[in-house]
Amino acid sequence: MSLQDKYEAVIGLEVHAQLATNSKLFCGDSTAFGAAPNTHISPITMGHPGTLPKTNKKAVEYAIRMGLACHCEIEKDNYFARKNYFYPDLPKGYQISQHTTPICKGGYISIKTGSGERRVQLNRIHLEEDAGKSIHDLDDHFTCIDLNRAGTPLIEIVTEPDLFSAEEAWQYVTEIRRLVRWIGVCDGNMEEGSLRCDANISIRLRGEKKLGTKVEVKNLNSIRNVRKAIEFEIARMTELVEAGDKVQQQTRSFDASTDTTFAIRDKEEANDYRYFPDPDLAPFHLTDAFIEEMRSAVPALPDQLVARFQSDYGLSEYDAQQLCDEKATADYFCDLIRHTQQYKAAVNWISGPIRQYLNESGGSFETFSLPASVLAALINLVDSGRIGFSAASAKLFPALIVTPGNPEALAEKMNLLQVSDGAELESWVSEALAAMPDKVTEYRKGKKGLIGLFVGEVKKRSKGKADPRIVTQLLEEKLNA
Ligand code: ADP
Ligand code: MG
Repeated sequence: MSLQDKYEAVIGLEVHAQLATNSKLFCGDSTAFGAAPNTHISPITMGHPGTLPKTNKKAVEYAIRMGLACHCEIEKDNYFARKNYFYPDLPKGYQISQHTTPICKGGYISIKTGSGERRVQLNRIHLEEDAGKSIHDLDDHFTCIDLNRAGTPLIEIVTEPDLFSAEEAWQYVTEIRRLVRWIGVCDGNMEEGSLRCDANISIRLRGEKKLGTKVEVKNLNSIRNVRKAIEFEIARMTELVEAGDKVQQQTRSFDASTDTTFAIRDKEEANDYRYFPDPDLAPFHLTDAFIEEMRSAVPALPDQLVARFQSDYGLSEYDAQQLCDEKATADYFCDLIRHTQQYKAAVNWISGPIRQYLNESGGSFETFSLPASVLAALINLVDSGRIGFSAASAKLFPALIVTPGNPEALAEKMNLLQVSDGAELESWVSEALAAMPDKVTEYRKGKKGLIGLFVGEVKKRSKGKADPRIVTQLLEEKLNA
């Protein structure tokens, strides 16, 4: 029996997502990334005596939106608690959190696995404030502290121990990143720390119901690292157990230069954080009406759109998934098909010429400037045979980006329209056939594949402007006469 068959990995993830609010969770300080150190630190952020925090309504709304998108139950009676501990980057000496009384309970996030779709069960989503940043590698002798991040709103999304491989964890975090961006609650930018993940990992014999001893790998800051850390841990634990040793309950850290983890502390006696409700912050009650209002602000989710794109527009699952990678792309597609029924052509334009243009220009669908109505007119123009796809994508499309307008008028001006006028086509066709009498004989003897050669010859003579569909028709009429 292989070790993979013998042991099962069990994983629970805690993902911190920075909410995309302009200001902090309890004061008006900016949350902008990349500011000069210690410039967004009002007395409230610093926890100076006599200051009073006030809850950012937008942050509460975003947490609820995420909860609704994840099918959670929303807690109506909420309060914030103080989690007391000392750390240099925690200016108040406590973190304001809902750790034990989350605003969202239960719920799930769907992921694709080798054996189909699976719902990963969530334990909770709660609101809390971020700490500042300790910077250890800036100075030889001192740790530098930047408190700009202190007080930034976070949601922490906690799963049940319901992931069973590094691959599934990778899928799950990828899905979270798509989801938070999709519903607009977090920019999902892992390089800037907007999404960070702690991975809890254990192994057990397959068939065993009891969970094994877990380790927690802290602060994974890329989806790749989540996967690598879990892969390493599963291998390390399996080796330990196979050798007859026990897994130690530990907190570990990941070293991305070696793709390994190392222990940072063994299980301390349970920390006593002396949680108590924050006396400076009033509890808040959410009405049903408010929650319903929040529900109506949740856009159609990726899974729903993927299904709709397949059933309503006949797209393949692959195409539908591609469109739903990010919301701006799906939105652009929806805009397009308000003006054209060439659904498959719309997908091809998005995944072909537009994607290529965006890659080359470093742009994205969010900022893509060509109005969908113009592109749709272009798609319809190609469909009508007035212009060939290659001229449309290579010449007209870039020109339209520079000067959006009527594609047909611009094509005319650029001399790109195909000729479908009978007399002119007819003479090219006759010329082409006259130039290749041997091939004509061969064709008539049954070598029907030669039609492509004749079409190509006509195209050449027309300098690419002959409409190939009509040319083919004309050729067949003449050849079969
Ligand atoms: P802690 O108190 O150590 O933070 P929690 O019970 O709050 O632990 O769980 C934290 C995360 O660890 C959750 O995502 C949970 O699903 C996961 N988890 C708990 N026990 C295990 C285990 N034995 N193996 C893997 N994951 C676990
Ligand atoms: Mg934890």
